[in-house]
Amino acid sequence: MTETATHCPYCAFQCAMTLSPAPAGSPEPLTVDGRDFPTNRGGLCKKGWTSGALLGETDRLTAPLFRTADGGFEEVEWDVALDRIAEAVRQSREEHGPDSVGIFGGGGLTNEKAYQLGKFARLALGTSRIDYNGRFCMSSAAAAANRSFGVDRGLPFPVEDLDAATTVLILGSNMADTMPPFLSHLQGARAAGGLIVVDPRRSSTARLTDDGAGLHLQPAPGTDLELLLGLLHIVIAERLVDETFIAERTTGYAALRRSVAAWWPERVQSVTGVPTDLLRRVARRLASRGGTYILTGRGVEQHVNGTDTATAAINLALVLGLPGSTDSGYGTMTGQGNGQGGREHGQKCDQLPGYRKIVDPAAREHVARVWGVDPAIIPGPGLPAVEMLASLGREGGVRTLFVHGANVVISAPNAGEVRDALTRLDLLVVSDFFLSETARYADIVLPVLQWAEEEGTMTNLEGRVVRRRKAIDPPAGARSELWILAELARRLEAPGRYDLDPALVFDELARASEGGIADYSGLSHELLDTEVAAYWPFPVGSTGTPRLFLDRFGHADGRARLVPVRATAHPERPTEPGQLTLITGRLLEHYQSGSQTRRVAELADSQPELRAEIHPTTARDRGLADGELITVENHRGTVVARVTTSTGIRPETIFLPFHFADDASANLLTSDATDPISAMPEFKTAIVTVHAIGAV
Ligand code: SF4
Repeated sequence: MTETATHCPYCAFQCAMTLSPAPAGSPEPLTVDGRDFPTNRGGLCKKGWTSGALLGETDRLTAPLFRTADGGFEEVEWDVALDRIAEAVRQSREEHGPDSVGIFGGGGLTNEKAYQLGKFARLALGTSRIDYNGRFCMSSAAAAANRSFGVDRGLPFPVEDLDAATTVLILGSNMADTMPPFLSHLQGARAAGGLIVVDPRRSSTARLTDDGAGLHLQPAPGTDLELLLGLLHIVIAERLVDETFIAERTTGYAALRRSVAAWWPERVQSVTGVPTDLLRRVARRLASRGGTYILTGRGVEQHVNGTDTATAAINLALVLGLPGSTDSGYGTMTGQGNGQGGREHGQKCDQLPGYRKIVDPAAREHVARVWGVDPAIIPGPGLPAVEMLASLGREGGVRTLFVHGANVVISAPNAGEVRDALTRLDLLVVSDFFLSETARYADIVLPVLQWAEEEGTMTNLEGRVVRRRKAIDPPAGARSELWILAELARRLEAPGRYDLDPALVFDELARASEGGIADYSGLSHELLDTEVAAYWPFPVGSTGTPRLFLDRFGHADGRARLVPVRATAHPERPTEPGQLTLITGRLLEHYQSGSQTRRVAELADSQPELRAEIHPTTARDRGLADGELITVENHRGTVVARVTTSTGIRPETIFLPFHFADDASANLLTSDATDPISAMPEFKTAIVTVHAIGAV
């Protein structure tokens, strides 16, 4: 076996790495090294360095599992499992209609699998009910970008452009923990004293602003929109806006101006807690021209007003004339490994490949032609993730559910309800490489391949398509999702092709995307093997598009939209004495639901349990000591955590990471209320109380 150039299995930065045979006696089959690449420049974080450990995991699934009468599992042959699933799908469709079968996909699946899953849902199952966990990740930022720019690509510029920035405003992203190699692109801004971080918590990223490197704004949770309206008010009132850019490249300025007139700094301070002088310093710094970027993350997007909050950030960038430039811009920090590609190829309930709207007749015609079917058989829009999960087992809802690349009992909001919903299903089929917490609820578990065991492509947070390569043979008994979908499609006598070779699936995906917003038609595995900087749109005959919006935005008139947005009272603010506001987030050591990283000894040893970050004053008032076990509770659920006091957190708040399982799962407490535009749940704030259990 030789060295294999590939990319990390985890986050959307998709750091380049080299896999090579491990020395004899090593517990892991492969050695991981960082590889020089324009994004990570040879760097990896702890998660990336240790990712080889998963390939040698002893609890890997290697045969399909059937639920037994006593609640356990037994191994069965693949033919038995697939025949049983096909029969159950047929029966469910006959008795309850095609929408009684649903798919919950994942933002970590390769482009090829995301594409094939969307096609399988529409053609083989005939269902509209497909959505994915990217709904919990990027949907608000995507909805805002589509509304304002007419195009949604996380960073519409190469990440290297940030190197020359002198001012970078980061709202709600803790990239120092989630994607540390990204920090190399912020050195210029830090050296210039221009790194500005907005976070209610003094996160690792916020601490980068120390020693003159920038400013940390610590608003009350759930007040990001008001903060942004205040910054807009100041730049307009102080005539710091780029009037030429506004006149030539946007529409809607007069209405936007009126909408922020009442958000004077003193009012914003009273709502957010951020002092007026700090607000003014930030507004003036952002307007200082040359090398200014605004970046948003889940902290401001995972709210019931997430789309409007991201829109306010875009409005701020637009009035300052930042987007569509070679030295400034706005972007959002995509989270999951293929959070970008996962939303482009048909996993979303309202979209077809190429980021096309499923209700658009021309889009349906085009995709149906590529699939070789009548457009009339492609179902219409389905239900977004939270609604689909709420429908499980209910009248008119999904009764047979496939889960691919998602761990919903940990990652979905109000997770206790999700656990109950899964038990109402007629059949739950989970494909995973480990017996994840969601797989434990399954009737049938299908063992699939890990990242280094097959070929594929991912699209990183810049919209750059990268090659994942096979470096090791999978264990006997595990299968690719592409094979599983093809076998089920054959049993269901579905129309359309279901190729097994990822390169052929990619070629079909590229044809299906042709002419769409995310056009991959000029790309192929062969071309990507040359490591061309493959930014979409990449139509046939082009060299790709590293920077969007230089000449025009995505709307028909080429102009960006300034969209006025209104702040309304946030539903999750404490109203009674003793209540705290829970904020949730991530740790350096763990990725998403933790089902992979909690299995890596080095990571699990470093962060083995749920720790609740509380201000020392808050702890003292409640008689809580560092290291003590507490319950954190609300009407949705109860979790058990160990107290860690920190002066870096606001006294009225408590922070929990959401990577842990069972009674340490923070999403037992979060709300499934959703943003009316994006259907993003309210992950970031919840009202809770805390109670001592005692020292254990
Ligand atoms: Fe890079 Fe993200 Fe992997 Fe860390 S988890 S090595 S930042 S891709």
